Amino acid sequence: MLSSDTIKRLIPSSELTPEDWERKFPPRPLPAGAEVTRFAPSPTGYVHIGGILVSLISESVARQSGGVFILRVEDTDRDRFVEDAVDQIGRALEFFGIRPDEAGEKGSYGPYQQSHRQSIYDSYVVDFLKRDRAYPCFCTKEELAEMSKAQSAQGVATGYWGEWARCRNLAEATVIQRLDAGEPYVIRFRSPEFTDKRIRYVDLIRGPLEKEDNRNDVVIRKTTGLPTYHFAHPVDDHLMRVTIMIRADEWLSSIPLHLQLFEALGFPMPRYAHIAPLLKSEGKSRRKLSKRNDPEAAVDFYVRAGYPAEGVLVYLRGLANSRLLDGPPKEVLSAPLLLEDCSRGGQLVDIAKLDHVCREVIAEMAPEEVADRVLKWAEEFDPPLAELVRQDRQAIINALMIHQLPPTGPRKEIAKWSEFRDKAGFLVPAMFETVSDAADPRFAPVAAELVTQLAQRLADSYRHDVPADEWFAQIREAAVALGFAATAREYKNNPQLPGSIKEAANIVRVLVTGRTTSPELYPISRTLGEPEVLRRLRAVR
Ligand code: GLU
Repeated sequence: MLSSDTIKRLIPSSELTPEDWERKFPPRPLPAGAEVTRFAPSPTGYVHIGGILVSLISESVARQSGGVFILRVEDTDRDRFVEDAVDQIGRALEFFGIRPDEAGEKGSYGPYQQSHRQSIYDSYVVDFLKRDRAYPCFCTKEELAEMSKAQSAQGVATGYWGEWARCRNLAEATVIQRLDAGEPYVIRFRSPEFTDKRIRYVDLIRGPLEKEDNRNDVVIRKTTGLPTYHFAHPVDDHLMRVTIMIRADEWLSSIPLHLQLFEALGFPMPRYAHIAPLLKSEGKSRRKLSKRNDPEAAVDFYVRAGYPAEGVLVYLRGLANSRLLDGPPKEVLSAPLLLEDCSRGGQLVDIAKLDHVCREVIAEMAPEEVADRVLKWAEEFDPPLAELVRQDRQAIINALMIHQLPPTGPRKEIAKWSEFRDKAGFLVPAMFETVSDAADPRFAPVAAELVTQLAQRLADSYRHDVPADEWFAQIREAAVALGFAATAREYKNNPQLPGSIKEAANIVRVLVTGRTTSPELYPISRTLGEPEVLRRLRAVR
């Protein structure tokens, strides 16, 4: 056991004791059954969509029980620290409307950023040293690497354990000598004697699990003075009075260690819920959705593409609790997410399905709302489009009406705001590029000369304010006058004719919409108005 002088040399900053922190952060005055949960991301400059899934579940579990939902920034890994990353996490949560009750300056169980909590961790490290539950270790990176090589060569478990744990029993005089020599050191947890015992634990999602106990004397305080995740986790979750730790299941393997730490710290045993990862299908197999290979793993992907947040939420909530898959969006958004309904195996992220959900969600929105949302998205990602929306919001709304209103019925075409240009832009005069080349291949098989003649004839006698059948009749009249067959059958029997009414209608469609398939032309002509229809018909030469 080290003397208090040596402990002071090891951890100079600590003044308060665990009891002081216990008093400062007392149990929360919440009704029985209220759950305190947290989302605890590391600010690495990248927010994974799986993190949003975990925080949705955590937030919902807190809300449905009248509890508290916390955002805690886990930034003890200074090598991975990225400027702006904390704001980025805030923006991602805001995008999805996830609102922590406690975060940043808000709440009385903070600070909520681990790098600001060093004095708290140090109190517990000192307490561990005093009770001989921890010890300083001077092993260098190189020594540790060699050790693990030797362990692999001998076929034994790698790690700092048993006779490999060189610094586990250093004499105090040696510790003092090495401190005098200025050697850098970490503090390691003195794990209980390893006895091959297996531990049992009940996960709130996975049920009872059995694992080999931990034998490693893991680092709890790094040379920088900051704690490792393994140590910060029990200290923070205990002092923030978190009641269920909901986290990614990559941490399942650390359970034996975490249980040992909770016990050594004298904290009540934790309740965990481990969330299976989001998956991606690759050929016939499935793998974890990965930061490196899958753009859709990043929250940024959804924001940039302009997916409506509620569409992504509906989709993610369905992945979290499959009973919500394919439910009406409004109900899915307000339904509680239940831990017992979370899948143990991982859910497949299918962008085609997400697009489908988002189309449904957007089709339900009023055109005015869509125009506002397109504008908000475009301001950041498509400034010229934003300018157009600002200049002629009504034209944008008109364009959207055609996608949502009779006679075509709601057209579920737009899944994300970046599709607006392609799917609806042709309905906005300022966004339309007229078709002026009569030899454009989209007019095939009709000869260029006839294309121009048809367009001119139609434009010259154009009647706009007429019912649908009359409107179509004028295309037929112009076509027949120019020698087109009145029916497809007649054209088939007389292939020397320039085309049928079908080819003629295609010419008008290409001129008016710039495409060979489109919603019905009559409502399009209503949206565009007479001068715009004429401008498009007269563009061709
Ligand atoms: N900072 C850890 C991570 O990002 C949090 C794990 C946890 O929720 O406890 O993986």
